[in-house]
Amino acid sequence: MEKPKYRRIMLKLSGEALAGEKGFGLDHEVIMSIARQIQEVVNLGVEVSVVVGGGNFWRGATASAQGIDRATADYMGMLATVMNALALQDAFEKIGLDTRVLTAIEMREVAETYIRRRAIRHLEKGRVVIFGAGTGNPFFSTDTAAALRAIEVEAEIVLKATKVDGVYEQDPVLNPDAKKFDDLNFIEILNKRLRVMDSTATSLCMDNKIPIIVFNLNEEGNIKRIVMGEKIGTFVKG
Ligand code: UDP
Repeated sequence: MEKPKYRRIMLKLSGEALAGEKGFGLDHEVIMSIARQIQEVVNLGVEVSVVVGGGNFWRGATASAQGIDRATADYMGMLATVMNALALQDAFEKIGLDTRVLTAIEMREVAETYIRRRAIRHLEKGRVVIFGAGTGNPFFSTDTAAALRAIEVEAEIVLKATKVDGVYEQDPVLNPDAKKFDDLNFIEILNKRLRVMDSTATSLCMDNKIPIIVFNLNEEGNIKRIVMGEKIGTFVKG
């Protein structure tokens, strides 16, 4: 059997991805499909860490524009990510995946608190680790949390799940002729202001030389394809 290209991965799931067509809340079918895709790569011996967003419930910047203090709104957003983390854990465990949720904000009754060495130990034991509550700080995003945690646990790659099959020059939904990038570097993302990840997350990946693959999550089997070295989506490196 062919060996996976990556030993340890970081999967970034947006909150929106969990909402499916509904655009808000959680879609059970979508979450189960994600669980199955992760199981496929865990079965190959790949260690999987996940950072999940909260945009399907709450976004700090949007709430702040409507008048809530930004830091407070951001803390609310971080709590939203924990709801998603618990939903994912439930789905993963239903199909037999050993899973731990580690939160950046202590909530002992709900999940373990993030401790780097503990996260690594869980991964080494083959458990899927879901990081909740982002970085634990307002004014940051879960993309930045994904970059940060990936670097901390020494993941080899960040897989950023989206609804399209990579990064485009323009929004492919608005312009069907928009050009897709197969490869990009971080400086191009920053200079062209491509909306791959926010600039904090992009800089963190660039400075620490951790590549990102932007891919379509809705096509089942894509996570495994990437892990096995198939070139899909957009590959971003330094
Ligand atoms: N958030 C934060 N600090 C973090 C991560 C997230 O304050 O380190 C808040 C922020 O308000 C954000 C919300 O949590 O809008 C949900 O996260 P994000 O928007 O990154 O989720 P996604 O777009 O991936 O669903």
